[in-house]
Amino acid sequence: MGTLRLSIGVIGTIAVALAVLNSKTATAFERRDVIKELGGKAVSCSDAYGRHVHAVLVTNLGDVGRARQMQRTPIIMMDPHYLNPLPGKLQLFFFGHECAHHVLGHVYVVTPTSEMEADCWAAKDGRDRGLFTRDDVQSWGPWFAKSRGSKEFGHLPGPERAEYLLTCFDEKAGDDAKTVTARE
Ligand SMILES: [Zn+2]
Repeated sequence: MGTLRLSIGVIGTIAVALAVLNSKTATAFERRDVIKELGGKAVSCSDAYGRHVHAVLVTNLGDVGRARQMQRTPIIMMDPHYLNPLPGKLQLFFFGHECAHHVLGHVYVVTPTSEMEADCWAAKDGRDRGLFTRDDVQSWGPWFAKSRGSKEFGHLPGPERAEYLLTCFDEKAGDDAKTVTARE
């Protein structure tokens, strides 16, 4: 089982995700792979067009999460190997980050500031929904430092990323991603 899972590459990952989405008669195994809650909180995401974004657990993603548009279906994939060791609130933040890529249209057009915009959106969304406090955000620095492949995708290094999130957290409610873009 372990060997089989490890042998599944990115193509396999996408195939598994699509199989889960397309399955009309979901088995218990497939239902288990749909992300419905994280850190004890129910999670859901709607994209810029108000469409439901499907969220599934996929192994061998190579990072905690990815946002993709596949066969015109918006999807969030999260890797349990990266996700499970994280504190619940940080799991919620990463879900929010991937959701933000759908809300802000990054699945169509990626810009050099997409990652920072998604971070900022997720920080404010979590704050406004009472999911996490400023202290929670401050405590995430060391965890970001451990996240893989960040720099090449435009993420700030761990401590800077946590600092940036605090800046977003402290901005007034109602500020949106445009604020981030303007500051670049
Ligand atoms: Zn991202």
